[in-house]
Amino acid sequence: MARYTDPVCRLCRREGEKLFLKGERCFSPKCAFERRGYPPGMHGKMSSARPGRESDYAKQLRAKQKARRVYGIYERQFRRFYGQALKMRGLTGNNLLQILETRLSNVVYRLGFAASRPQARILVSHGHFLVNGERADIPSYGISVDDVISVREQSRDTIYFKNLREEAEGRTVPGWLARDMTNLSGRMLRLPERAEIDGNLDEQLIVEYYSR
Ligand code: SF4
Repeated sequence: MARYTDPVCRLCRREGEKLFLKGERCFSPKCAFERRGYPPGMHGKMSSARPGRESDYAKQLRAKQKARRVYGIYERQFRRFYGQALKMRGLTGNNLLQILETRLSNVVYRLGFAASRPQARILVSHGHFLVNGERADIPSYGISVDDVISVREQSRDTIYFKNLREEAEGRTVPGWLARDMTNLSGRMLRLPERAEIDGNLDEQLIVEYYSR
């Protein structure tokens, strides 16, 4: 399956909420959801004016699609993560969110090294980051406790990373990560707790979707 390449703002309009996929633009008046907060397509406006009653299946599907879109993950890969979560101890939904949250590209985003998750994915796949000193260019690479993520030496001289120290200043880092802006690096201190993961995701509905 090809990666979704249509304008990402359509995804926010489809989900009926802001998914923050475009960095600074999401917080500006240019945000497409602020200007057209109804579903895309010919009948989008009409369907939002007459909302129907959603079936349980539709709610479960929406919850799964939303999580997939927030993290930018293929259906097949998402299902694989669900399978991993199922085999782990503890609550499957919680495990799934922890797997999603501790993927390398998400950790790069959470450390404030990128303005959005899609941008973090690009930076990682262009090979700008190291994990424990080794080059890591797979966005879905799983980060473990005590792993150190740093910007590659050769990348530090690029304009993007030269400006990053200033730009990342206002981006807060969650308690499960520690950032060292001087060395352009970060460390995972512990696994994220549920309260530290996007509260707008409904992992229970995702579990119901895959348990049908
Ligand atoms: Fe979504 Fe950001 Fe586009 Fe607004 S600007 S519609 S929040 S991706």
